Amino acid sequence: MSEDAKSKSSVGIIGAGIQGVCISLCLIKKGFKVTLIDRDEPGKVSASYGNAGHFSPYASVPINRPDILVDVPSMLLSSTGPLALQWNYLPKMIPWFIKFIKNCSKKNMMHTARYMHQILDLALPAYDELFQDIDVSGLVENNGIIYFWTNKDLKSRELENNIRKELGVKQQLLTPHEIHDLEPHIKKIYHGGVLYSNARHARNPKKILLRLFDLFLKKGGHFEKQNVQKISFSSDNKPVIKTNSKFYSFDKAVIACGAFSKKLTDQVGEKIPLDTERGYHVHFKGHDHLLSRPVIFLNRGFGITPMEQGLRVVGTVEFGGLENSISKKRILNLINNAKYLFPELGEHYDEWLGFRPTLPDSLPVMGLSRNHKNLFYSFGHHHLGWTLGAISGKIVAGLIAEENTNLNLSPYSSLRFD
Ligand SMILES: Cc1cc2nc3c(=O)[nH]c(=O)nc-3n(C[C@H](O)[C@H](O)[C@H](O)COP(=O)(O)OP(=O)(O)OC[C@H]3O[C@@H](n4cnc5c(N)ncnc54)[C@H](O)[C@@H]3O)c2cc1C
Repeated sequence: MSEDAKSKSSVGIIGAGIQGVCISLCLIKKGFKVTLIDRDEPGKVSASYGNAGHFSPYASVPINRPDILVDVPSMLLSSTGPLALQWNYLPKMIPWFIKFIKNCSKKNMMHTARYMHQILDLALPAYDELFQDIDVSGLVENNGIIYFWTNKDLKSRELENNIRKELGVKQQLLTPHEIHDLEPHIKKIYHGGVLYSNARHARNPKKILLRLFDLFLKKGGHFEKQNVQKISFSSDNKPVIKTNSKFYSFDKAVIACGAFSKKLTDQVGEKIPLDTERGYHVHFKGHDHLLSRPVIFLNRGFGITPMEQGLRVVGTVEFGGLENSISKKRILNLINNAKYLFPELGEHYDEWLGFRPTLPDSLPVMGLSRNHKNLFYSFGHHHLGWTLGAISGKIVAGLIAEENTNLNLSPYSSLRFD
């Protein structure tokens, strides 16, 4: 696409989470006229606000694994475990579970791992490009991330470590002594661990998102606080976005509404099996000095990140859709787990529920819609949407600008569900 064509071309992005903000910024840098639309102020309540803040370029092994099916029943029954189900949502979830199970073969697991690795490997350089233009001092730490475990379920650890080795992911196995040296305040319940030294973490994901958003506005981008109801198409196939009170016409549009994207993709006639893995956080104010980097206790499937808000305790994969309310049981589970590692913790504050957007093969959807040549998608980045914000922004903006890429993007196409 020529520079002139870009400057005349208008793009509407629906959703101002990390995906929408990064796509908008990449497009405005290329010279497009960009309008970002969200029903809320950017960074207010979305997954992009409340996540664990990990930049995890190593995390290519999906939860779709042959061994997960054996583990699920005991995980669901355990009160300290990471998995939960809101039973009223089970009937709606069954078709998704069936697709998920089909993707747990070794072959499909490796397919996902390979194509997650393809984009995860580019995730940090893509952020570095965006961070050149904003001040992130004090907001991004480069101390790596530690996972640790007890002697239980060691087989799963071996599988993950071997796949990462095969993909060339940098990892350093840790003895209990080494974990203690790195993080001396954690109660010594662990038998082993791993350090991903090239991982980073955000000390305040919301602030980073807002700095990227402010840069987008400074570069001439436009924001509309509107709830999108419907997308229709003009006679020449251009998207027309209808909100509560307005209509907007663009040359091209992008759906980047995270877990809420399905409402819009269903409506444009594409049945994409997007659902949500609900997750929670609580904060313990003033305790961030207890950790130098994020840690994840794998047996209980939760993590703790030192942030500006204090220690952010994050976890749970809960299947329960977008409408069920926050579960006090899951909040209690996080508090108890945090106090198991740090008995000195006092009162928590903030009880947050967020929605990871997840496809049953644990690959995101990025690319053109099946039915409309001027409609693009970027959603479904599940546990890694924060890490993948900048690289997805770069990829989707490149597709809109009709640029060539060396990447194989077909594994991310929505056509895989046909
Ligand atoms: C507990 C938890 C911990 C996590 N930890 C990490 C982590 O450490 N590292 C990592 O990489 N990822 C993590 N994730 C995943 C990551 O947060 C998400 O994948 C990512 O934030 C998704 O970004 P998004 O922009 O696609 O969606 P969102 O952040 O959900 O943003 C979607 C936006 O769309 C807007 N919207 C929706 N519908 C409409 C509509 N109809 N009209 C207008 N606007 C609309 C919403 O208001 C929202 O602002 C975590 C997620 C959770 C829940």
